[in-house]
Amino acid sequence: MTSDVSIQDQPAIVWFRSDLRTGDNAALHAASLHKTVLPVLIRDTSNGERDVGGARKWWLHHAVERLQEALADLGAPLVLLSGNPEELIPDLVTSAGASAVYWNRRYDPDFKSLDSRIKEDLQSRDIHVESFGGHLLHEPTRVRTGSDTHYKVYSPFWRAIEGGIEDREPLPAPKSLKAAPTMPDSEELSDWKLLPEKPDWAGGIRETWTPGETGARDRLEEFLSGAIKGYANDRDLPGIESTSRLSPHLAHGEITPAQIIHALAESDTDASSKDRTVFRKEIGWREFSYHLLINEPDLPRVNHNSKFDDFPWNDDDEGLRAWQKGMTGYPIVDAGMRELWQTGWMHNRIRMVAASFLTKHLLIDWRLGERWFWDTLVDADPASNTASWQWVAGSGADAAPYFRIFNPIIQGEKFDPDGDYVRKYVPELCDLPSKYIHKPWDAPEGVLSKAGVRLGDTYPHPIVEHQKARQRALDAYDKIKDAA
Ligand code: FAD
Repeated sequence: MTSDVSIQDQPAIVWFRSDLRTGDNAALHAASLHKTVLPVLIRDTSNGERDVGGARKWWLHHAVERLQEALADLGAPLVLLSGNPEELIPDLVTSAGASAVYWNRRYDPDFKSLDSRIKEDLQSRDIHVESFGGHLLHEPTRVRTGSDTHYKVYSPFWRAIEGGIEDREPLPAPKSLKAAPTMPDSEELSDWKLLPEKPDWAGGIRETWTPGETGARDRLEEFLSGAIKGYANDRDLPGIESTSRLSPHLAHGEITPAQIIHALAESDTDASSKDRTVFRKEIGWREFSYHLLINEPDLPRVNHNSKFDDFPWNDDDEGLRAWQKGMTGYPIVDAGMRELWQTGWMHNRIRMVAASFLTKHLLIDWRLGERWFWDTLVDADPASNTASWQWVAGSGADAAPYFRIFNPIIQGEKFDPDGDYVRKYVPELCDLPSKYIHKPWDAPEGVLSKAGVRLGDTYPHPIVEHQKARQRALDAYDKIKDAA
C-alpha cells in the first residue's frame, strides 16, 4: 500500500467490479487513505466479456443500489459509466486529476488480461496502480505441486492451501470518504435495464433473496446461529435450509471468504469441529475451481480431459427443453430445475443430480447445461459453474468417473425421503404418499387418482427409462474411454 503522501493528496479512483461491498475491501481502504476519492463502476459495453445472465442482472441491479447508498452515506457517491474500461479509466484519471487507481483482482481470464492492459497503460503514464486480493482466500497462481504444475486433484490442493489460510481480521469499512473535487456525471442505474420487465419473471427471486452487503452479513449470522450445527450431515438434504446460501453474495463480492472464515472462527456456535471443517472444505472447492480456471483459461469451453472431445453427445432440443422446464418425469430432477427457475438457486446435491441427468441420461453436452445455469443462477460463477459441470460430466478435474451415473430415484429417496422438497416445487405431486413420490409411475392407479395425478396429463411420464438411459450412457462412454 502506498505511503507516498504527495500521491495521497490527489484523488484516488477506486474501480468496483465483483466486489460490491465497503467492508474488507482492500482497494477501497487504499483509496480512503487519499484526501479524496472517486468510486466508479463500469458497465463494459465493449463486448470484451461474457454477458452476465438474466438472474445475475437482477441481483446486480439491487447490489449496485445498496452500494450506491453505502458510498453516498460515507461521502463519495458511486459513479456509474458504460463503455470500454480501457478508455474510460484513463479518461477519468485525466479529468479527475487522479494520482492512483485501485481495484480488487478478478480471476476470470477475460478480465485478467483486460486488467493487465489497463495497468500497463496507467503505469506508463506514471499513475500509481495497485490491485488487491479478497475475492479468494489464496492467490490461485501461487500454489504449485512439487513438480511445478497446477493441482488437478482437490484433496492435495486443499492440504496445500489450508495451512496457509490465516484467520485474519477483515478490514473495516472506511468511516467516511470525501468525494473528488471533479466528479463526472453518473448514469442512472435504471437506464442499465437490468431488471426484467415483460414478463417480470423475478417474483420468486425477490421473495427469496436480499442482495447487498447487509443482506450477506445477515445471511452469514443466520447460518452461524443455525444450520452450521449439523452441516456435515444435513448439507445434502434439499428439503431443509441446511446450507449457508451465501453463494450469490460471494459471487457479487458482497462478502469475502475471509470474512466468512473469520466469523466462523469467532462464532460461539456449538457446531462440531466436523461441521466447521466440512464447511471450510466447501469454501475450498470454490478456491479449487478458481485455481483450475486460472491455470486452464479455456475451461468454460474445452474439456479438461481431452478424451471427451470425441464424446458422442446427443442433439436433443426436446430433451433439453424438458430438462430446463422441470418436465422430465423424474420428480427430484424436476423439483431442482423448478427451484432454479423460481428462486435463481438450486441445492448443491440436486445440482449434481440434475447435471448428471442432462449429461448422462439425456447425453446432452455439459456446455448446454452450463449455459442454462449461467443464465438462471443468481450465483452463476465463471469458475465454480464450469468446473462443477465438467466434474459431473466426467470430463473435469478430479471428476466423478463417467460410469458413476446418479440414479434419480435412489437420490430422491435417500436425500428427500419424505418428499418435502419435491412436494414444494412439484405441487402437482404433493398428495402422493412418500413411497411413490420419487417414482409416481410405480403407484397403483387408485393411489394416483386419489392424489389427483394423471401421468402424461398432470405430470409427464419419464422422458427416458432409467436403466435404458444408463446403458446408453455407458455404451457412449465405451466409445471414448480407450482414446489416447
Ligand atoms: P454451502 O454449502 O453453504 O457452501 C459455502 C460456500 O462454499 C458456497 O457458497 C460456495 O461458495 C462454496 N461451495 C460449496 N460447494 C461448492 C462446490 N461444489 N463447488 C464450488 N464451490 C462450492 N457454485 C457457485 O457458487 N456458482 C455456480 O455457478 C455453481 N454452479 C454449479 C453447477 C453445478 C453443476 C454444480 C454441481 C455445482 C455448482 N456450484 C456453483 C457449487 C455449489 O452447488 C454451490 O456453491 C452451492 O450450492 C451454494 O450454496 P451454499 O452457498 O448454500 O453452499
